[in-house]
Amino acid sequence: MKIAIAGTGYVGLVTGVCLAEVGLNAVCVDIDENKIEKMKQGISPIYENKLEDLMKKNYAAGRLDYTTNYKDAYKDADVIMIAVGTPERSDGSANLDYVKKVAVQIAQTIEKDTLVVLKSTVPIGTNDEIEELIRKNLIHNIKIELASNPEFLAQGTAVDDTLYASRIVIGVESEWARKILTKVYAPFNQPIVVTNRRSAEMIKYASNDFLALKISFMNDIANLCEIVGANVEDVAKGMSYDQRIGDKFLKAGIGYGGSCFPKDTKALHWLANDHDYELKTVKAAIEVNENQKVKLLKKARNLVDSFEGLKVAVLGLTFKPGTDDMREAPSIPNVNNLAERGAKVYAYDPVGIENAKKVFGCNENIVYTKNIDEAIKQADMCFIMTEWKEIVNYDIQGYKKLMKNPIVLDGRNCYNPEAMKSLGIEYYSVGR
Ligand code: NAD
Repeated sequence: MKIAIAGTGYVGLVTGVCLAEVGLNAVCVDIDENKIEKMKQGISPIYENKLEDLMKKNYAAGRLDYTTNYKDAYKDADVIMIAVGTPERSDGSANLDYVKKVAVQIAQTIEKDTLVVLKSTVPIGTNDEIEELIRKNLIHNIKIELASNPEFLAQGTAVDDTLYASRIVIGVESEWARKILTKVYAPFNQPIVVTNRRSAEMIKYASNDFLALKISFMNDIANLCEIVGANVEDVAKGMSYDQRIGDKFLKAGIGYGGSCFPKDTKALHWLANDHDYELKTVKAAIEVNENQKVKLLKKARNLVDSFEGLKVAVLGLTFKPGTDDMREAPSIPNVNNLAERGAKVYAYDPVGIENAKKVFGCNENIVYTKNIDEAIKQADMCFIMTEWKEIVNYDIQGYKKLMKNPIVLDGRNCYNPEAMKSLGIEYYSVGR
């Protein structure tokens, strides 16, 4: 069975690599020639644990290939998976332009019956729409059908999340499509949930929005904990023993970012509105998160008369540890705001600096440092935006010894408040 995958981002590349790893033939297609060339040399365009090793292994074994020539890749494929981006439009709705472009390319290329599998996160009803679009543009008299197969991997653990998925959701409208997709995923030996296409599309949004809601709920509780003198970490621990609640996603902080939760909450909220329904819970999750991202910045503004001329260290820039992805990272509004207010930002991240440069640029307001010490040396204040292990394990004596003014605003609750205070560090964290 030949499988082509359109898009070699986090989802497309990891899917292709893992399909090859379980013994299938996968060809990954992208429009970015630079990316394709690098991948052929065994270089991953994204930072993701285990990915490069598996890329090299499966490319060498001949099960995995990369190309910009979509025609060759699609024309005789049995299955084509679409894994291109579905970014947010300015009104919050999902932009399906990339998906539609691939759909037309598929229609004008395929020469045999093909199952087209939509892995991108798309609004409910999109599989129907894309199937119609492909059928309208077909140039050969062949059978095509769409199947929804949303992706649940998390960046930072994408390879393991795919090889050992908690579940594989397939949304199909025919026995033909069910059989093909069940066969594709059989080697993974994971639970397969079969639904119709609209339910599968909804499972993806509902899962992401539920997780976003869980984070925002804990952040809301954390803010109240600060007011009433409770400790959100103790509260989370106490809650976590209840199996109905679970112990994941209970960590308070400065909010979620990334390429999924922010856009998927807004897209579902938009879609509900479009159907004259208001998703009040999701709306609340979005609002709480927007405020949470700049919570510590607001606190910092009360600590100084002005940021003008201050040296401010920012530790951690990516939206979470384990990835170099800067999309919607909470560091973005914070760094931009500090720079606008005249601070000189000294930013450090173990893997995200290259992508951070694309977001913040290289100018006199921001210096990218090689390590934590360099960032905090003689700093008037330090923000922590990402809980990288290196930051969590950093010897806190360093803040006292190296900073001009040991004020630490920790958006990820990396340190013990008592330990920080006993060293004479002015320490602010979230919900404790
Ligand atoms: P991405 O932005 O990292 O990658 C998309 C890739 O598609 C890019 O490399 C781009 O060059 C390529 N592309 C664009 N047009 C193309 C075309 N016509 N043909 C071939 N390639 C083309 O995207 P991503 O983060 O992997 O997300 C893809 C989809 O999966 C989105 O809908 C996203 O919401 C969803 N998703 C993402 C994650 C995640 O953690 N990133 C997890 C689950 C689901």
